[in-house]
Order: sequence, then C-alpha cells, then structure tokens
Amino acid sequence: MRLRNIPGSREAIAKNCWCIQEPEKLKGKWSAVFQNNHPIHIEIGMGKGKFLMTLAKQNPQINYIGIEKYSSVLLRGLQKLEEEPLENLRFIRMEAEMICDVFDKEEVDKIYLNFSDPWPKDRHAKRRLTSCQFFSRYNIILKKEGTIEFKTDNVDLFNFSLEEIKKSNWHLDSFTRDLHKDSIMKQGNIMTEYEERFSSIGNPICKLIVSRKNNKEKIL
Ligand code: SAH
Repeated sequence: MRLRNIPGSREAIAKNCWCIQEPEKLKGKWSAVFQNNHPIHIEIGMGKGKFLMTLAKQNPQINYIGIEKYSSVLLRGLQKLEEEPLENLRFIRMEAEMICDVFDKEEVDKIYLNFSDPWPKDRHAKRRLTSCQFFSRYNIILKKEGTIEFKTDNVDLFNFSLEEIKKSNWHLDSFTRDLHKDSIMKQGNIMTEYEERFSSIGNPICKLIVSRKNNKEKIL
C-alpha cells in the first residue's frame, strides 16, 4: 500500500503508545506487553490495519500484532486505534525481513499475509512474503502447530506460493482460487481493505492455509 508521504509521520509514530518502539527488545517477552499469556497472531504487511482491528474486536482472548514498513500507512492505522483503543492490538513499523529479531522461537501462534506485494521480477522473488526464504523465517517464529493464512488476487503470486510450499516442509491444509464462492473457506472470512477493493472490480480472491508437514503426519 502506497500513500503520499505524510510529513512528520515517523515522529508521530515514535510517540504513539499503540506502536511498539524498539520491538527487538521484546523478543521472547511479548506476553509482558499484553500482560497475559494469550496466543499471539500477527499480520505482516497490514496496511492501515482494518483486518486486524476487526479481528481484535471479535476475539479479545487473542493478542494481535500488525507489521507495516511504511510510516504514512501505519499512521492511518494508529489514528483509527486511538479513536477506538483495543487492548489486544499493537502495531510495529518494521521490515518483515527482521521478523526473527523481533519474535523468539515459536512465540507466534498464527501468521496472516494479506495481499502481499507481488514483486513480479524473478530477481526479486526472495522478497515475496511467501518465498522459501520467508517460510524459513516463519518456521522459526511460529509454534509447531501454528498456521499461516495467505490471501491475494494475484494469480501469479498465488501459483508461486503453491510451488514454494511444495518444495518446503509445509503442508497445504486447504486452498481456493475463488474464496467468496467457496462455501467452506468463506465462512467467517474478514475482508481486508485490498480484498474489498479488488473483489469489487471482479477479481476472484485466492486463499491458502498451511501448517507444518511433520505436525500433520504425526496426527494422521
Ligand atoms: N494487508 C492489507 C494491505 C495490503 S498492501 C490489505 O490486505 O488490505 C501490502 C502492504 O504490505 C503494504 O502496506 C506494504 O507497505 C506492506 N509490506 C509489503 N512488504 C512488506 C515488508 N517486507 N515488510 C513490512 N511491510 C510490508
């Protein structure tokens, strides 16, 4: 998500109590931020945070953390959170590549990736949030029984993601190429801002859910 640069947004974020400053200092200690041991669910590339705000309101027993790299975008989310504070939601301004500096081994219970940047050029493939490189990072921070949910309208990115999963130690639990017409997967679906925008112009929404292969084999 790109917004015109808002002058002073970095400074405004630095003073905002809903935005975690120096998040790497909290590695392994996120429960202390929320003052409870509830599960931690994160969205990487949250944009203005609408999806997480809806989830946080619905599920007070879960702690949510939104990650966004652009100050101007994040500031919009923070302004909304100030109007309607949610004790179980915090935001971080950071690059997703730093994720293992901020979360400890198995500290996260669920990862959401919604409408991630497609990085269409082959030479940028490792920057895609569903590349093998990113799956290796998620493999560290996610609990063994944790899941990753990914939505996009970008068919090339979706196909790439399915291929990366095949090569990895992740298990494809379910997927659809038209979420809004999938009677099972659409249940309880919360639309993100991009999802509303792209589905309104007729783009089908793709979704996949993955978990650890080893974990699945043990259950079967
Ligand atoms: N999830 C939102 C926004 C999608 S746009 C929605 O579905 O409506 C993708 C967002 O991810 C943008 O705001 C972009 O700035 C952010 N983003 C992309 N790559 C990122 C990265 N490597 N680290 C952190 N944020 C990233």
